[in-house]
Amino acid sequence: MLNIVLFGPPGAGKGTQSEKIIEKYHLTHLSTGDLFRKHLGEGTDLGKLARKYMDEGRLVPDEVVIGMVEDKINSTADTNGFIFDGFPRTVAQAEALDAMMTKNNLRISGMIALDVAEEILKERIRERGKTSGRADDQDEAKIATRIKVYLDETLPVAAYYEKQGKFTKINGVGSIEGIFDNISKVMDGYSS
Ligand code: ADP
Repeated sequence: MLNIVLFGPPGAGKGTQSEKIIEKYHLTHLSTGDLFRKHLGEGTDLGKLARKYMDEGRLVPDEVVIGMVEDKINSTADTNGFIFDGFPRTVAQAEALDAMMTKNNLRISGMIALDVAEEILKERIRERGKTSGRADDQDEAKIATRIKVYLDETLPVAAYYEKQGKFTKINGVGSIEGIFDNISKVMDGYSS
């Protein structure tokens, strides 16, 4: 099994590249942002709880996120592996993910980080806001909060995987295909 953490700031292109990775490697996509938006759309209690954090660009509390991810892993049978997108976003989430993996006799193959400069990120998110319908894509203050939260709380997760020798950074600026080729080269170097 290949279990990949796709990492990067908001607007780095994780969703776009995830789709291509899933198609080529037949992995199960586990995007915490997508799962929360699904709950929001269905009006579940979890969705209502998450909304107030998401709309402000703040992180949903760790225990809520971790519980949701654990449910998704436990309810997925017969997979070639997972691509984690937007998770783990804190060191506590990374530790919880390692514990879940160990419990299921699995391991994280590696983290692939998409590197994009802050000004380009803001531009991409503003563009996406015109069509995404996401409140957090349409407000300068919320965009700035998300980038700040990324730098303060999420960036340490890269160091967590670097310490385990599992970290690779890729340039996230360029053509979608070109970036995907570079991701594929890293993926093909992982032993399953
Ligand atoms: P983006 O990468 O564009 O910021 P996501 O779709 O990954 O968007 O996440 C949207 C929002 O959902 C985040 O701003 C946050 O409020 C919440 N969220 C998603 N994943 C997590 C997570 N792992 N931990 C805490 N909050 C999360």
